[in-house]
Amino acid sequence: MDDGEQPFDTVVVATGVSPRTELAEAAGIERHESGAVAVDSRMRTSVPSIHAVGDVAAPPAACADGRAWVPLGGPANRMGRVAANDVAGHDDALDPVLDTAIAKVFDLDVGTVGYTEHELRTEGRPHEVVFTSEPDHAGYYPGATDIHFKLLFDPEDGTVLGAQAIGSDGVDKRIDVLATAIAHDDTVFDIRDFDLAYAPPYSAAKDPVNVLGMIGANVVEGVADVVHLEEFLDRYAEATVIDTRPPEMRDAQGWIPGDENVPLGKLREWAAETDPDGEVLTYCKIGKSSYMATRILAEYGIDAKSLTGGYYRYRRTEREANAPPAQ
Ligand SMILES: Cc1cc2nc3c(=O)[nH]c(=O)nc-3n(C[C@H](O)[C@H](O)[C@H](O)COP(=O)(O)OP(=O)(O)OC[C@H]3O[C@@H](n4cnc5c(N)ncnc54)[C@H](O)[C@@H]3O)c2cc1C
Repeated sequence: MDDGEQPFDTVVVATGVSPRTELAEAAGIERHESGAVAVDSRMRTSVPSIHAVGDVAAPPAACADGRAWVPLGGPANRMGRVAANDVAGHDDALDPVLDTAIAKVFDLDVGTVGYTEHELRTEGRPHEVVFTSEPDHAGYYPGATDIHFKLLFDPEDGTVLGAQAIGSDGVDKRIDVLATAIAHDDTVFDIRDFDLAYAPPYSAAKDPVNVLGMIGANVVEGVADVVHLEEFLDRYAEATVIDTRPPEMRDAQGWIPGDENVPLGKLREWAAETDPDGEVLTYCKIGKSSYMATRILAEYGIDAKSLTGGYYRYRRTEREANAPPAQ
């Protein structure tokens, strides 16, 4: 190895982009806070008869207070068409951009559409968030792999605000369906009932998008009582914490210190014999069986809350550092 040379397997170049706006600046055109040229839905800038499109422009956005700079190929193409129509005198306007994006990160697909939780918090907009993990197609058909989802929606009326997904297969399809839903102001009730194509190689009888809608609708209607990680970490020391996973899964994945392992099949017995002191919090791998547990416990008069995102969330969150060490 020569001086200055480093061996490597892979080099990731992550330089980012910035809009080149010297010309716009010279013309005195109004700019967006990102530095890009501010345009309206017809791609008109603040200077009459000057349009701007593509990576240099910040058009109206659905998921931001006003405009957003989204330097991607889809919006750039649509902006070009709208600007050309406007110049030619045809009535056309750009639908607000949704910040829909997908990337291949080694063997994983990572997709996003609409608001992220960080953006909603920054805007101070009320929101609810649920996590789920669903196979991209029927589990009994070879090759099924889990897609991990995060869905953000309005807590009052269930309007879908954003989604992020990561998995090996099928992420693009779900992000595109959710993008269509967000573009049409659909709610968790709408996506729950979407009639999506199903055969075992392609999806499940309940498509992951339908499942997201079911969970979201349960939360909006108060059927599912969920607790978020931040609240969980604040309260779990005083609560009765129940892990509803089977012992072998718990042994393989780890658990939260101080909990009790009561798999779903043994929960009725536990509930009949126990009079828990204070709050009951349930968790599992992702939040499905722990949700079912809250419904079973309700039959016994025990008011329980399920940790959304489950043990995955406990382990993977940025607050991991503040959490008690996993076993
Ligand atoms: C490596 C890479 C990967 C990408 N992958 C994706 C992706 O997967 N999905 C996605 O949605 N987007 C992707 N993008 C972004 C996408 O390519 C851009 O958003 C899109 O091309 C922007 O279109 P545009 O017309 O604004 O600019 P451009 O496509 O950059 O076109 C600008 C043109 O202007 C020309 N030009 C510049 N200066 C002058 C001048 N002074 N005189 C005359 N001509 C000039 C340039 O040569 C160029 O041809 C990627 C970008 C890069 C760089």
